[in-house]
Amino acid sequence: MDFQQQISVPMSLPDITDKERDAVARVMATNYLSMGPYVKAFEKAFQDFTGAKHAIAVNSGTAGLHLCVRAAGWQDGDRVITTPFSFVSSTNVLMYERITPIFVDAEPVTGNIDPVQLKAAVQDLTGTAASAARWLPPKGADPNGTLKGVLAVDVFGQPADFDAIREAADPYGLPVIEDACEALGAMYKGRPAGLLGDTGVFAFYPNKQITTAEGGLVVTNDDRAAALIRSMRNQGRAEGDTWLEHTYLGYNYRMDEMSAALGTEQMNRIDTLIANRAQVAAWYKEELSDIDEIELPHSADTTTRDSWFVYVIRLKDAERRSSVSAKLKALGIPVRPYFSPIHLQPYIQEKFGYEPGRFPVTEDLGRRGLAIPFSGKMTREQVSAVGAALRQIF
Ligand SMILES: *Cc1c(COP(=O)(O)O)cnc(C)c1O
Repeated sequence: MDFQQQISVPMSLPDITDKERDAVARVMATNYLSMGPYVKAFEKAFQDFTGAKHAIAVNSGTAGLHLCVRAAGWQDGDRVITTPFSFVSSTNVLMYERITPIFVDAEPVTGNIDPVQLKAAVQDLTGTAASAARWLPPKGADPNGTLKGVLAVDVFGQPADFDAIREAADPYGLPVIEDACEALGAMYKGRPAGLLGDTGVFAFYPNKQITTAEGGLVVTNDDRAAALIRSMRNQGRAEGDTWLEHTYLGYNYRMDEMSAALGTEQMNRIDTLIANRAQVAAWYKEELSDIDEIELPHSADTTTRDSWFVYVIRLKDAERRSSVSAKLKALGIPVRPYFSPIHLQPYIQEKFGYEPGRFPVTEDLGRRGLAIPFSGKMTREQVSAVGAALRQIF
């Protein structure tokens, strides 16, 4: 039997070269497995790439977001506006600090937080208790909580509409965090993702634009936030503290040197990595445009450079998704529903009492979205195989 005939298409694949493997191996031969030169080099690469004044490497995107939340000073009972259409960590970092996430629905083109609703939410939540009430969860919110900020997410590699977000937030002095974990290299009106809020975070799990295996990084132009985040990453040691002095409550969120070596080498070819992903997305567009039963991803006018993270098609008929998924799997094509609404995750429902129907755009995108195999390593043949499988099913 000729196994070569069945073309296998993995959901995603990291793109790693021998040069990168060698860099990791060289670290292993030194005495610096942590807190050595590679983390500094990796941070420098991000300052150069984004133009940020500060770059702070951490051991996951979630850790980076948590540190941004701590640096914003949000705490128990505070209210922070965020989106229910995201990977769950953007809400979890609020939950860690017992902050009430105030969900604002997505807009249907990009799946990013709806800036018009966000503006209304800011006004209502800074107004009377009666006007605030319609944005609060059915239960579980601190009745004395006040609105303290916004945590917006760049979904699937397209920046949220940050000019509109800041226009709504700035008059009230509300800090804004940008979860850019899916958007390394994306541009918003010519400006780089990551620097669109007060602090921004990238992530490097193996399916992201670059990988460090596990890892994340915070960028900011704010000196105060940077110093605090750097310290909290390292067990709360402030500048000048010795190993056993801890000015702040901190964490061990440090990135190790093997990860930083891999990441530094990946950043040397970031433009190629992003271009390869854009090529695969362009092939998908060619391949799938004529299938009436699906919608392809749309670019917002404000996105001046897409940085493709995943390729999520939307079925016109949500009812068909599970049978389409099963048929694709049978043909050797893995797929995933993307995203599953955060307000309907069991632990969030239990705490805040949300019912289906509360955020209709998020729920609709959640029901119809299907991530198909995607990485910068995909070949034209693999893209054609996915197209052929979809065409066969419809
Ligand atoms: C990947 C991702 C994160 C962070 O993920 P980690 O696995 O903690 O590195 C956060 N938010 C979004 C939207 C993501 O896609």
